[in-house]
Amino acid sequence: MTGAGIFHAATENGLNVLLVEQKDFAWGTSSRSSKMVHGGLRYFAAGNVSLTRHAVSEREYLLNKLPGLVEKLPYVMVHKKGEFPPPSLFGLLVRMYYALGGLFHLPKQQRSFSLRTLLGLQRSKFVGFSNFYDAITDDARLVIRLLQEGASHGGKLLNYAPVEQLIEEEGIVKGVLLNMGGQMKPVYAAEVINATGAWATRLHSHPEYRLRPLRGSHLLLPFHKLPLSASLTVFHPKDKRPIFVYPWEGCAVIGTTDLDDELPQSTDPSITDQEVEYLLEVANSLFEENKVNRDDILSTWAGFRPVFSTDANTPPSKEKRDHAIWQRPGLISISGGKLTTFAIMAQEVLEAYRREHPSRLGDLQPTSYSQSSRHSCALKRLQGRYGNAACAVSLAGQNQRIHATNTLWSELNWALQSEAVCHLEDLLLRRTRLGNLIGPKLKDYESAINGLLQKHLGWSETKIQAEWENFWQLWQQSYRVS
Ligand SMILES: Cc1cc2nc3c(=O)[nH]c(=O)nc-3n(C[C@H](O)[C@H](O)[C@H](O)COP(=O)(O)OP(=O)(O)OC[C@H]3O[C@@H](n4cnc5c(N)ncnc54)[C@H](O)[C@@H]3O)c2cc1C
Repeated sequence: MTGAGIFHAATENGLNVLLVEQKDFAWGTSSRSSKMVHGGLRYFAAGNVSLTRHAVSEREYLLNKLPGLVEKLPYVMVHKKGEFPPPSLFGLLVRMYYALGGLFHLPKQQRSFSLRTLLGLQRSKFVGFSNFYDAITDDARLVIRLLQEGASHGGKLLNYAPVEQLIEEEGIVKGVLLNMGGQMKPVYAAEVINATGAWATRLHSHPEYRLRPLRGSHLLLPFHKLPLSASLTVFHPKDKRPIFVYPWEGCAVIGTTDLDDELPQSTDPSITDQEVEYLLEVANSLFEENKVNRDDILSTWAGFRPVFSTDANTPPSKEKRDHAIWQRPGLISISGGKLTTFAIMAQEVLEAYRREHPSRLGDLQPTSYSQSSRHSCALKRLQGRYGNAACAVSLAGQNQRIHATNTLWSELNWALQSEAVCHLEDLLLRRTRLGNLIGPKLKDYESAINGLLQKHLGWSETKIQAEWENFWQLWQQSYRVS
């Protein structure tokens, strides 16, 4: 997300940019977040006003500019007996949170919410509910949207091209050595930007900025198991951490955890058994009737937060989520922050670049996106995800939904034609989210998908079979509950 935001802003400002990614675009944390575009009430409550203010104003901007991709979501805070903060104090906090975004009156629709949301809640345990709104997105598609727009401004993109090392001359970074399928290729640039998230200090360490890889995991359940029209926030009965239970892409999500763990370089992170139990426990502490168990889980995902460590004694959830920029000649590194604040991070990187190269970059253009129509409901989702290409996407194949998801067959066609799909997992886990949303049910669509792989990528039967084997192996290892 951070790299895609910088790519988008830099190309918009007329710079000549190449973005490289070691695996697939959005393979890192940015397809594995909770997908909330939010200020983060809990960061605000913890006194992190500046991060919250920026994030709230970004939320408003993105809601306005990317309808169909960034959508409003009602949030309901569930207050239990004796729990802090009580509803009255929380209400005050929400008003201040809204004020940060320049909203001084709660919009009417935010004051009431569907009672269906609360159906089945163990009412006797609760003293009240507060409601407000934030927003939700599809993080991987947000990355692809920025890349697509950046490419239309002339930027170049390469996936599956890890940076093996920096090229330095007399202490100045002049470029990078790329591993292109085993062949080392030097690429030179006026400036290298290291936006490698939780991996950033591997390319460029700094004594002040120590990244603490914190893994967070989620469970995805069928909508009928937790039929919510709002995101519920509840404190976990064990450690009082806030956990969200929320609707996403026609399913329900429970998340997230926050644990120190070893950061892998290029294998997909996965949830542990203890986390599964921990997350199920919170849902079952809420609902009387709709108890959920392991068999209900459709799939899981886990990702690593790029978080800077204050000290080893700080509990993971208390670490600040601010971003930082550190530099050496020829190299700007950035990490931390949130999905929501990508545009602010990109602007700061461009400002740092301009300080180094004043003759190459003039006044910065504010971020803009190709226009989306607000009136066409049918196209809104496609316009949000594909921007100017929405019509071309809808013409790329059948506009029928796959299984019970919102994903259209035409989106698969489009991704295979135009979105640099190198492996089946790119198509099923990031260009679309079918791998998360329907998992094993994909087997029912295997032959139709194979036809598209043959048609668009020219894959042989042997290649297709090998790709499915790899996909299921990955899915078993990192996306399912055993
Ligand atoms: C569980 C969880 C929930 C979260 N929920 C939210 C949320 O709801 N809202 C929100 O705003 N934020 C959320 N966040 C934070 C947000 O997801 C991250 O801040 C953001 O995605 C980080 O983006 P990034 O681009 O910096 O890192 P990444 O998305 O990890 O991207 C870095 C990329 O660099 C690549 N890379 C690494 N090394 C190399 C190399 N040598 N050569 C080439 N490429 C390389 C990696 O493969 C990776 O794809 C969440 C984070 C987690 C973990």
